[in-house]
Amino acid sequence: MGVIFALGALGQAPAENGTLPAAWLSGGPNCLEVPEWQVHEYNPTFYILRQSGCINYEKPFLYLFIGRERALLIDTGAGKSTAAPFVGSLLARWAEQNKRKTPPLVVAHSHGHGDHVAGDAAFATLQDATVIPPTVEAEQKAFGIAKWPSDPGAIDLGDRVIDVLAIPGHQPAHVAYYDRKTGALLTGDHLYPGRLYVSDFPAYLASTRRLVEFTARRPVAHIFGCHIEQSSTPFVDYPVGTVYQPQEHSLALGRAHLLELLAGLESMIEKPVRLPLRDFTIFPREPRQSKQ
Ligand SMILES: [Zn+2]
Ligand SMILES: [Zn+2]
Repeated sequence: MGVIFALGALGQAPAENGTLPAAWLSGGPNCLEVPEWQVHEYNPTFYILRQSGCINYEKPFLYLFIGRERALLIDTGAGKSTAAPFVGSLLARWAEQNKRKTPPLVVAHSHGHGDHVAGDAAFATLQDATVIPPTVEAEQKAFGIAKWPSDPGAIDLGDRVIDVLAIPGHQPAHVAYYDRKTGALLTGDHLYPGRLYVSDFPAYLASTRRLVEFTARRPVAHIFGCHIEQSSTPFVDYPVGTVYQPQEHSLALGRAHLLELLAGLESMIEKPVRLPLRDFTIFPREPRQSKQ
């Protein structure tokens, strides 16, 4: 029996648009020429940062939203991350340019893995920065998620509400963020152009179903994950640990990829297996134990 998915919010467009670069810096070929952080202004209140592969091969993406009252940073980088001083000075320059006071900063996470939290501690040295630890308990409290993982939560940055959905499966405290202004959906390590490591299959499947349902009636401009491991050649990824990726896949995915992920997961309910798809690979960490 086939499943019919809602097509998304036809006829609705997000209030704000933005732009993406033609390509991102990965790392190298000459690491002496590559800055630790690449900053891209998607629009004047939404910035995308990428940490250089020369610092850490994970080269994660970080996201910075600015509202009327506060700013929200998602993730703090990998390895010897200098995210705190870098984001601090970025916000100060932003404030100067916009003739505003530097907004207080809330630091949250996609999830608790080391390549997303490495810069956390240094945020204590910034004025007006609050770090939400990447734990289920702290996220429930900060985002008002009454029942984990089924209830949605949110954070209001001042005339800018970001919805927060619990999506365990890759890691127990994983959450997704949806920016109502731009229609950007941040899916962390749950969905990105690369290897999607599934550590809890039933939870991953249920989380994907919730994301599909959540986006059925909301405009999705882009789905942004935290890494790029896929190359621009269909079905081909860069090996683990690659620093320089001159032909990498685009960062942005769309809702069709979310539907493809769900279909892929549903095809392996009986036996999760590694499944390379055009733009990402479903990568169960270990075969699920049978019920017997
Ligand atoms: Zn992860
Ligand atoms: Zn990661």
